[in-house]
Amino acid sequence: MRFASTRGGAPEVGFSAALVQGLAPDGGLYVPQQWPQLTLDSWPAASDLASLAEPLVQRFAQGDALADQAGSIVRDAFNFPLPLVPLEADGRLSVLELFHGPTAAFKDFGARFLAACMTRIRRGNPKPLRILVATSGDTGGAVAAAFHRRPGIEVVVLFPKGLVSPTQERQLTCWGDNVTSLAVRGTFDDCQRLVKEAFLDPQLQASAELSSANSINLGRLLPQAAYYVATSLAVWRSTGEKASFIIPSGNLGNSVACLWARQMGLPIADIVLAHNANRTVPDYLQTGVLRPRPSIATLASAMDVGSPSNLERMSWLYPDAAQLGQQVEAVSISDEQIRTRIVTDFAARGQVWCPHTATAAEAYELLPAERRAAGRWVLVGTAHPAKFREIVEPLIGRPVEVPDNLRRLFELPSQSTEIDASLAALRKVIG
Ligand SMILES: *Cc1c(COP(=O)(O)O)cnc(C)c1O
Repeated sequence: MRFASTRGGAPEVGFSAALVQGLAPDGGLYVPQQWPQLTLDSWPAASDLASLAEPLVQRFAQGDALADQAGSIVRDAFNFPLPLVPLEADGRLSVLELFHGPTAAFKDFGARFLAACMTRIRRGNPKPLRILVATSGDTGGAVAAAFHRRPGIEVVVLFPKGLVSPTQERQLTCWGDNVTSLAVRGTFDDCQRLVKEAFLDPQLQASAELSSANSINLGRLLPQAAYYVATSLAVWRSTGEKASFIIPSGNLGNSVACLWARQMGLPIADIVLAHNANRTVPDYLQTGVLRPRPSIATLASAMDVGSPSNLERMSWLYPDAAQLGQQVEAVSISDEQIRTRIVTDFAARGQVWCPHTATAAEAYELLPAERRAAGRWVLVGTAHPAKFREIVEPLIGRPVEVPDNLRRLFELPSQSTEIDASLAALRKVIG
């Protein structure tokens, strides 16, 4: 399969090249030239993620050196569970827990998949590969964990100083070895801009081969599409109904992946994007006018994005707001609503949400009762609440149990370098 740039000004490339480049040379994002269509019967009968992801990866990598390694890649990447946990006895509402990987957030899927691919692509290559990753919290930790100590690969993590939770910061700065952590004096949007500028900078391009692991990287989206494949097939096989997903959304990588899965013919009904107070996308769908703006800080900090990169991929599929509005809906959830939802669902069901997943739980409650009763709703659980214990614990009035993988990370010493939000400052540290 070949991949084109959303901006149409770059040559088409194969799977490995799209992964290594991250961003297309014209500044656009890579999108597949055509959609593999698999009939519902042609997916493997197995239900585990690796078995279902393998034919998906094979098709995307068709004609590329990685196609033959699809099986080993998905088994290397997806080595942790993906539970779909019912929340109500009638099975109409459940939560897809995407937080059982090494850093307890859904970004582990993309990061581990990318690391598995990159390691195989770079085997035997003498030039180092430098992966630049801007993070609003979870991406950087997941990428650092996935690439830590992989030979021939360096990782540079840029995060907005003071705008990630102390728990998240620990995960961004506990690695050392081939991982450099930069605390940028600015916002997530500044970090993202710096990464984009670095890619266009000859000096930085000369010192190493550059790649990105942000949710703009095709290699992040594909494994995310795979869990929508696995989940929608599981619901379809057990009930004969299509699943509807409510997705906590920021930079829109997770939701583009869900759209892609539906595009490939998977049994997916509605897709609801739950945003926090950064309402660029809900406003776009409502008014038809796209007005990117600076991000504002919320409790669901990993979704604090005022100018979502992956909107470009959505607009490539559905060029105006009216068309996109027929495919997805979007709501904005305030900090107050997040707090109340965490308190209420703990009291009513003993369920502890992270602030991001709470936006999905709240978006569900805002649906009309008829729609709730008629659908097979899946809340997409994007992070373990222990990653946001500073927020969650005061609300529920008790400690959140910390999973073992996180506990081990929390015990490592922290190391980072503070820089201004300028290309010159970045050059000084990694040029
Ligand atoms: C990154 C992240 C999101 C937002 O996902 P996007 O793909 O950027 O829309 C939501 N929740 C958590 C916990 C995250 O880490």
